[in-house]
Amino acid sequence: MPEIRFGPAGIPLGCEGTTLDAISYCKKIGLGAMEVEFVRGVKMGSEKALEAGKKAKELDIKLSCHCPYWINCCAKEEQKLSASVRNLMETARAAFALGASPIVFHTGFYMGRTPSQCRPLVLQTLQKTLDKMDEEGIKGVALGAELTGKHSAYGNLEEIIDLSHEFGLKKLQPVVDYGHYHARIGRLREKKDFEKILSQIENSLGSAATKDFHCHFSEISYSDAGELSHLELGKDEPPFAPLAKVFIEHGWSGKVICETPLLEQDALKLQKIYIAEKR
Ligand SMILES: [Zn+2]
Repeated sequence: MPEIRFGPAGIPLGCEGTTLDAISYCKKIGLGAMEVEFVRGVKMGSEKALEAGKKAKELDIKLSCHCPYWINCCAKEEQKLSASVRNLMETARAAFALGASPIVFHTGFYMGRTPSQCRPLVLQTLQKTLDKMDEEGIKGVALGAELTGKHSAYGNLEEIIDLSHEFGLKKLQPVVDYGHYHARIGRLREKKDFEKILSQIENSLGSAATKDFHCHFSEISYSDAGELSHLELGKDEPPFAPLAKVFIEHGWSGKVICETPLLEQDALKLQKIYIAEKR
């Protein structure tokens, strides 16, 4: 297995089955990771999660989870804030049983407010979640704040690094989605564009951030408002090879989850590019 694992966001297209089957399928085709998608709610019981977690451990497939989409850690209504804690907790419990980390979430939406108005709410919601995780003895599961693709969403690179600073890398790790960055913040074309991101993370969070990182990769279409949709590989929007080069030169190890419509097929392509760059 390479030091960077690759895997699909969800059950591979070629696998007609459950998460358990999907883990075996990833192993069979030569992938080393998979993200379990709870984007439309956590519907996996603890027994199933434990069983899948056991299988993943046995086959050495590293798991992570994606939290429900409707989480909004800086919602204006108290009810929505507590629902966000509840959704994060449901995912955290499933992740704990699965042996998965991090649980990736989209922080929230500015909804007409400035980032600094939203930040205290975000911190409060995440602190509540981390306290509850502690209370329940959920260990080894980090929150993964994703770099979001729309200008209206909390979660640019500085904001997710800031959250890691606040809670510590072990409890909250930044999850760079390179497609989202490409769409939202700046066009990623060459090595130096990717280098800037990795250096910013290293300079702010230290070398610990280079070990066991977690990220998303997809090609993407975009408008002035940011991301439109995820695309399969082939157009270099953004390209992966320069990023693979920077990962190798900076000695990063961790996981790359492929979020293109072709899931495992493109994950294998990304892995192939990475291996070729390593030689
Ligand atoms: Zn996401």
